[in-house]
Amino acid sequence: MSIQSVGVIGAGQMGNGIAHVFATSGYDVVLNDVSQEALSAAIGRVEKNTARQVAKGAMTEEARGAALARIRTTHELGELGGTDLVIEAATEREEVKDQIFAGLAPSLGADTILTSNTSSLSITRLAAKTDRPDRFMGFHFMNPVPVMKLVELIRGIATSDETYQSLLSVVENLGKTAASAEDYPAFIVNRVLIPMINEACYALYEGVGSVASIDASMKLGANHPMGPLELGDFIGLDTCLAIMNVLHDGLADTKYRPCPLLVKYVEAGWVGRKAGRGFYDYHGEVPVPTR
Ligand code: NAD
Repeated sequence: MSIQSVGVIGAGQMGNGIAHVFATSGYDVVLNDVSQEALSAAIGRVEKNTARQVAKGAMTEEARGAALARIRTTHELGELGGTDLVIEAATEREEVKDQIFAGLAPSLGADTILTSNTSSLSITRLAAKTDRPDRFMGFHFMNPVPVMKLVELIRGIATSDETYQSLLSVVENLGKTAASAEDYPAFIVNRVLIPMINEACYALYEGVGSVASIDASMKLGANHPMGPLELGDFIGLDTCLAIMNVLHDGLADTKYRPCPLLVKYVEAGWVGRKAGRGFYDYHGEVPVPTR
């Protein structure tokens, strides 16, 4: 089916980036969040990031204006029901996602494709609780969405080929590259990446190195563009912990045991960049390591 309009649920780090790339690729976007603050911040961020694209010569001012005009914000989930594709990008908690899909159900068009940007939850299980497991898929964007080229496409056991092909075309229209992953905990990227971040937390917890030395080691010694602790802060330590818990529960292997220091940071609300503090403090001009 041809997709022209998109509903995005959750206007956090991922939701604003998803709204950005769809609007600049010509799709009409309805962006939803329970928080007015998140909606305002998301629009502010899209304005700022598209202005940067204009300054770099990657977009004209006219195209920017047209893209911004394509994004509408709302608190009402029902206003997303008429879109061709819904992308759920709310907090990584299954009960939050279930509640959203249930709230959406009464207004949802018969042909609308439902997707979740979940980093780790079972697509088959999320899909089974909706009225359309055949038109449900994992649609996993990377952070920051306007910059990162990959989108993981995850088919649940009941996802139809037609749904998969529709999303494949959408990924191409966005100028991104799709990778197909099977529906197992955390899929491909996070199955490999998040245990590495968790291991960096253990290295810090056990005193193997400081925040600065662990990050410098992986940047200069393994050629990673960001250190693992810096990257954890960037992703959100709450999201990292949620993914470790899904790996631990889903695969029942002690190698996925979340690091107690990671748990403690999340309990403290020190969840990274979005909170102003994680393994670094972000209140000053430059991030300052906290350990
Ligand atoms: P975030 O904390 O920045 O934003 C989540 C947003 O969801 C918040 O604005 C919150 O108000 C909103 N929300 C919560 N409950 C809601 C509801 N019932 N209805 C509407 N909005 C609701 O989180 P994020 O980093 O943007 O992550 C969102 C999703 O994307 C998660 O599933 C996460 O696993 C996934 N993801 C995150 C990353 C990353 O690097 N952060 C990368 C890929 C995928």
